Parts: sequence; C-alpha cells; structure tokens
Amino acid sequence: MKKSNSQEILVVGGGIGGLSAALALALRGMRVRVLEKASEFGEIGYGLQMGPNAYHVMRLLGIAEQVEAQSVHPRELILMDALTDREITRIATGTAFQARYKFPYIVVHRRDVHGALLEACRSREEIVLMTSKALERFTDHGDRVTLTCEDGSEYEARALICADGLHSRARELVLGDGPPRIAGHVVYRGVVPIDEVKDRRFFDSMVIWCGPGLHFVQYRLRGGTVMNYVATFVSERFGRGLPDFGGPEELVAAFDQTSPAVRGMLGHVGKDKNWILYDRDPVPNWTRGNVTLLGDAAHPTLQYLAQGACMAIEDAVVLAAKLEQAGADVNAALLAYQSERYLRTARVQITSRIFGEIMHARGGARDLRNHLMAQRTPDTTWEIDWLYRSIQV
Ligand SMILES: Cc1cc2nc3c(=O)[nH]c(=O)nc-3n(C[C@H](O)[C@H](O)[C@H](O)COP(=O)(O)OP(=O)(O)OC[C@H]3O[C@@H](n4cnc5c(N)ncnc54)[C@H](O)[C@@H]3O)c2cc1C
Repeated sequence: MKKSNSQEILVVGGGIGGLSAALALALRGMRVRVLEKASEFGEIGYGLQMGPNAYHVMRLLGIAEQVEAQSVHPRELILMDALTDREITRIATGTAFQARYKFPYIVVHRRDVHGALLEACRSREEIVLMTSKALERFTDHGDRVTLTCEDGSEYEARALICADGLHSRARELVLGDGPPRIAGHVVYRGVVPIDEVKDRRFFDSMVIWCGPGLHFVQYRLRGGTVMNYVATFVSERFGRGLPDFGGPEELVAAFDQTSPAVRGMLGHVGKDKNWILYDRDPVPNWTRGNVTLLGDAAHPTLQYLAQGACMAIEDAVVLAAKLEQAGADVNAALLAYQSERYLRTARVQITSRIFGEIMHARGGARDLRNHLMAQRTPDTTWEIDWLYRSIQV
C-alpha cells in the first residue's frame, strides 16, 4: 500500500550521509522519512579522521558538542617512513592550525558520529526513521516521486535523496554507469584497549607510516581509551589479475620489509576481515528530475584524504540550504546542490588517488617524497587550505 505524503522528502540510506541529510532538512523545517535497508541503524566499529571542514558542518547540524565529547584532538599529524621508522614530516594541529581553519582536526569512532546523528534525528518530530526498507526502484512523476522498496511497500515524496553508499542501487537507476572501480588496495583494521599498546611514542598524534605500496595508520579514539589501527596495501595479486586477492598472507608479505615497530603493530589488526577499496571517476550529473545522490553514492573516494564521510556531511547541509532556497522548484534545488558540490568532491576524489600514490611511493619516488616533505615546517598547511577551510552555507 502506498504511503502518500507528497510534502515529505525521502532519504534512502541511514549511514552518516543519509542521517546528516535528514537532520539538515529537519533543521530547516522540512519533513523527512529515512528508509534504511539494514534491520538496524548502525556503523562499523572503527575510526574516522575529520578535518576542520567537517567539524564546521557538524556544528551547523548541532552535533559537534556530542561528537567532541568522544573525540581525540591529535596534537600533530605525523608522516613516518615505514621502512626506516624515521619521520618524514609533521603538521601541527594546535594554535596556528586552529586559528587558520577556525575549527579543530579530530579523530573519532564512527559509532560516536553516527550515534550523535541518530540521537539528533530521533529527537526531531519532522523525521520518521524506518529500517528493513531497501530501495528497489522509483518513478519520477514531475511533481512527486514514488519509491518502491524490495518488500513491495511504496512511498511518495516531493524529493528523493539517495545516500545508499558505494554500491548504490539508486546510482544504477539515476546514472546506470556500472559498478565502482576496484582500486586493488586492501585494508585491515583493528581497535585495541590502550593498555595493550606497547609502543607509546605517538600517543598524542595521528601517525601514518608510508611504505612501498602500503601504509599503516595509528590514532587513539573514544577519549583516548582505545587505539585504532589501519593497514593498507596495494595487492600484487590483484595487479596480476589473480582471484582471491588481499588475503591475510598477502598482507603479512606486503609488510615484510617494514620496520620491526610497524610489523609489531600489524599484530593489532584483525586478520579475519578486510575491506577492498573502490572509487569512481568524478561525474557532474548525479541528479535526475526530483531525485539526487549524496555521499558515497554520488562521489565515492579512496580514503587517502580521510574525507568521504566529511564530504557526505557537507553535501547534506548544502542540499538542505538549496532545497529551502528554491522553495517549490525541487529540480532547481537539486541541480544547484549538485553544481555546488561537483568540483569540490571531484577534487577530493582525484587528490585522494594522488595522495595514495605519494604515500605508497617506491624507489626514487619515495626518496623524492621524503626529501621534499622534509623541507616543510609543521605550520605549513596552505596546500590543504582548499579542503580544510569551511564551506559557505
Ligand atoms: C578504510 C576506510 C577508511 C575511511 N576513513 C575515513 C576517514 O577517516 N574520514 C572520512 O571522512 N571518511 C573516511 N572513509 C569514507 C567513509 O567511510 C564513507 O565516505 C562514508 O561512510 C560514506 O557515507 P554514506 O552515508 O554516503 O554511505 P554509507 O556509510 O555506505 O551508508 C549507506 C547506507 O545506505 C544503506 N543502503 C544501502 N543500499 C540501500 C538501499 N537499496 N535501500 C536503503 N538503504 C540502503 C546502507 O545499509 C547504509 O546504511 C573511509 C572509508 C574507508 C573504506
């Protein structure tokens, strides 16, 4: 049976992007229904780095304080060479950084960000949250959109915002541009109680050890009570077109050349689950009629700038502002949102690939990276101004 309310806005997907969109719309007085495929709202149990640009938009959503209470402010972002365990460069995130960007750089557990969004959404009477509702298809009638779920239920709304992630069903319907690109990079993660951490050199920093075709990340979460570890490598098996790439034995072999300190930390990542990384080339046209995409569904990125979730939250606040400004003309609002977000998110997608290449450099490229980066001073951050400066909303 059709649930008809053509004044409502439908949001598909209850991840960080979808919940941010629901909250941003509700804060501007719009009624929203969120349809989430899973039987519960939730996030995986690992860390997120969030630049000052994300802190700004979380403040606009009213969740920054709650997220802040669970977060850690690393004193510095340090790049190390994974082979020699020597420092390459560091960025200070203290007074000068915060004066430049107005907001802090934080690291936080995904569940703490998602939980803050969920709690805020639950407290708004404008928002209806539904689980076990998977988008199957939609029909755009011009003045309204009808959405059909896999269970046959139907919903009607004036706009459809699809934040259904990397393997987005909505993207298939809007763009039909096939599956995302497999990068051939593989991630293993771990979170361990702080008492289990032996190497305490970098407790107050976010550290990335860069090696040939690999890198390893470490930072604390949850008020500093746990340590988050991320090991990433470029799979040679994938490069050779072999099936079943990225297994734990390939992880261990990839890190074989790294320093004893890095190999020691590799023991902290779980070997029973991995993440195969994907992204897409940027596209300028993720809106069709009264339907648009948001977050990873629109512009999935490799994680090397740590900005996928940050971009999804930025998308949400821009989208809500455009829908409020355009009034009844939903298509105009969605196109204005897309136009404002396109090149910024494209730059994140492309720069993430480049930054991945720099982190994973080998041979002479590695030597050049280490040489050039060693000339930076900790307060040199202008390269990242385009990203960390707050967006205008
Ligand atoms: C290893 C790794 C590290 C990362 N680190 C960072 C970082 O430090 N900082 C950062 O900002 N970003 C980071 N990211 C990126 C970040 O995780 C994503 O960009 C972000 O989670 C995208 O949010 P989203 O809401 O768009 O999609 P998702 O989080 O994927 O949410 C999509 C939601 O839609 C639901 N869904 C799917 N299909 C349907 C359907 N048909 N109908 C209804 N619901 C559906 C899903 O169940 C899910 O709840 C990282 C990513 C990876 C892989």
